[in-house]
Amino acid sequence: MYTAIGYAAQSATTPLAPMKFQRRSPRADDVAIEILYCGVCHSDIHQARNEWGIAVYPLMPGHEIVGKVTAIGANVTQYRIGDLVGVGCMVDSCRSCDACQADLEQYCLAGPTMTYATPDRVDGSNTMGGYSDSIVVSEHFVVRIPQKLDLASAAPILCAGITTYSPLKHYGVKAGDKVGILGMGGLGHMGIKFAKAMGAEVTLFTRSPSKAEEARRQGADHVIVSTDAEQMKAAAGHFDFLLDTIPVQHDLNPYLDTLRFDGVHILVGLIEPVDPPVHAGKLVMSRRVLAGSLIGGIAETQEVLDFCAEHNITCDIEMLDIRQINEAFTRMIAGDVKYRFVIDMATLKV
Ligand SMILES: [Zn+2]
Ligand SMILES: [Zn+2]
Repeated sequence: MYTAIGYAAQSATTPLAPMKFQRRSPRADDVAIEILYCGVCHSDIHQARNEWGIAVYPLMPGHEIVGKVTAIGANVTQYRIGDLVGVGCMVDSCRSCDACQADLEQYCLAGPTMTYATPDRVDGSNTMGGYSDSIVVSEHFVVRIPQKLDLASAAPILCAGITTYSPLKHYGVKAGDKVGILGMGGLGHMGIKFAKAMGAEVTLFTRSPSKAEEARRQGADHVIVSTDAEQMKAAAGHFDFLLDTIPVQHDLNPYLDTLRFDGVHILVGLIEPVDPPVHAGKLVMSRRVLAGSLIGGIAETQEVLDFCAEHNITCDIEMLDIRQINEAFTRMIAGDVKYRFVIDMATLKV
């Protein structure tokens, strides 16, 4: 064991504050990592405040981790000291179920071990995330950061990136497809970049007409103002895929109308009941599919990092001093960040 430091919430109602705690010494298959950067995801806020009812305190968020290997266990084969690596949303899984065998650890039938606020599978300790100077993770759950990528702006690829890349890949988005992206936050702006890089014709759906210019700067070919009934009507039957990154309840029915027959509406931002209800006729009458998708497996997380390096895709970030983390949460809730805060972990040591 060794002493680490990070920012944690002690309860659902207390702000994040510095905390010293113990990290384990590397086990045989572990990689110890000095954390250089960590992205700030909306899940971090939900969990710190126990908005999903599954928080365990003290809760140290952070699952968009980029850093440098400082030590390896005796059986580690993939990484060496000094390698630049990443850790995303998961740090372990059962590794034997059908999902794990298919490189889909995020759907592990026994439940994956998340990067924070989940019991470690070996010693039962509460996992602590990346708002920290270091982390120790089994090498299977570590990915390599391609040399070409800027380290800080690569961090959000580990959650926001893989979450949007995986479903586009799974449903086979290809050149010429018409893809609509719902919402342009951390997830949505990555969705635009990926769909564009896959050759699709990309349309952003947004409530705010003021976002049109920015959406085009991100690569969108078209913008539809979702509150404009005329524009929504004009798009009827048009899209092959909709990537829905909206994290709050919203009416899916007007969007389903914009799908062609066999079109797929993919939810990645919502994990609550759909309300108002979906009119089943909108699915049945046109064989449309309403789907969901959660992050991506470890092999695919490596794939998206390599894809980003190949296509020069990074996340647009605002660098954050960790001492401002609570203000950053407030700004994120107000939608006031373009598009991801990334903590510069050097600020933890000053
Ligand atoms: Zn996340
Ligand atoms: Zn499993």
